[in-house]
Amino acid sequence: MLVLVINSGSSSLKYQLRDTETHDLLAKGNVERIGSEQVPDHAAAFDVLRRELEPALHGQQIDAVGHRVVHGGERFSGPVLIDNEITRAIERLSPLAPLHNPASAMGIRAVEKRWPRMPQVAVFDTAFHRTLPETAWRYAVPDDLYRRHGIRRYGFHGTSYGYVTGKAAGLLGIPVEEFNAVIAHLGNGASVTAIRHGRSIDTSMGFTPLAGLVMGTRSGDIDPSVLIFLQRRGWDAEQLDDLLNRESGLLALSGESDMRNIEAAAGEGSERAALALDLAAYRLAKYIGGYHVAVGGARAVVFTAGIGERSPAFRERTVRLLGPLGITLDDAANRAAGSEPAVISTSGSAIPVLVVPTDEEEAIALATAELVGRAGEGADERGSGQAAAQADGRSGEGAG
Ligand code: ADP
Repeated sequence: MLVLVINSGSSSLKYQLRDTETHDLLAKGNVERIGSEQVPDHAAAFDVLRRELEPALHGQQIDAVGHRVVHGGERFSGPVLIDNEITRAIERLSPLAPLHNPASAMGIRAVEKRWPRMPQVAVFDTAFHRTLPETAWRYAVPDDLYRRHGIRRYGFHGTSYGYVTGKAAGLLGIPVEEFNAVIAHLGNGASVTAIRHGRSIDTSMGFTPLAGLVMGTRSGDIDPSVLIFLQRRGWDAEQLDDLLNRESGLLALSGESDMRNIEAAAGEGSERAALALDLAAYRLAKYIGGYHVAVGGARAVVFTAGIGERSPAFRERTVRLLGPLGITLDDAANRAAGSEPAVISTSGSAIPVLVVPTDEEEAIALATAELVGRAGEGADERGSGQAAAQADGRSGEGAG
């Protein structure tokens, strides 16, 4: 199937054209500056995308569109075929992801406007974490906050975790449903997830992607009283949002948010850069130790995403702190790893350490093809693809 994968932001439309049989990436691009004179809205951006795609299509038809949607709230536990009601549900979840969900809905409507009969699928970043037990998702605050405002842990990077869980279990020859692991997705946004029996049972991001690890420009975990303290001194919500989401993390500690620059600075003797790296690795190692307990004994520690795949130095800095768990790195394997799934620990390591490249677009394309294919079969038998996908109970709608 030819699947167009769309990641729609407020001012950009990123896309990839994927062949789900050959796993080829046929085209990719990013239409930027939505809201400008040249590209006034998402429909205009989609027209640019269509023109850019033409040379790669050679006259072939796109079979389906898969959208990355950040927030699926409590409703969505997997990918769903999109209809009007689903688009409205994505919009209704906007208070939980004010920058992302409205943009996703605009992307969906732009496709609908230009290609009214195109099957579209939504793949949610939160869905993989719908298996969190209440002990992990609930905050110890009055129930009203949860009931009225949906304040709880949701978790993110779920599409990546689902994909990497399958690949890591496959590499070790362990059936996914028996696989316990701790997976660290370390990109500009970074999180870590506890996998038990192939499912997410805890994750470091929370109500928003601000919680947990030290990230490029986000603080990660911090005592919430700091916010109250600052508010009493006149800071408003916008300032606090900027402070913790855009001015903190590695940037605040070292003056740089990009791992490559921080590592270069540390290499040249910058003490601030070295402290930033140590602090980020320490935070991550604490989570890995905690999640090893949470999953009842991990059978792998897995690194993925930009830093996880491409920074042997940061992996080394983190794994060094895991010595008490009997984990030891194979230096040569660690330095060599990156493009393919690989084991980077010694044969004597109590728990194998893996590098597994993530591919969220591939995961979205495959989920889209599966759902659209299944709906198509159902439509032949029962006359309605949408009804068929929902009737078989695997439509991605959470039980509540
Ligand atoms: P995003 O969260 O935006 O998808 P990525 O997964 O692409 O981010 O990861 C971006 C991070 O990966 C940046 O901090 C970048 O510095 C880091 N990174 C990319 N390549 C390397 C490299 N060769 N060595 C160290 N860090 C790298």
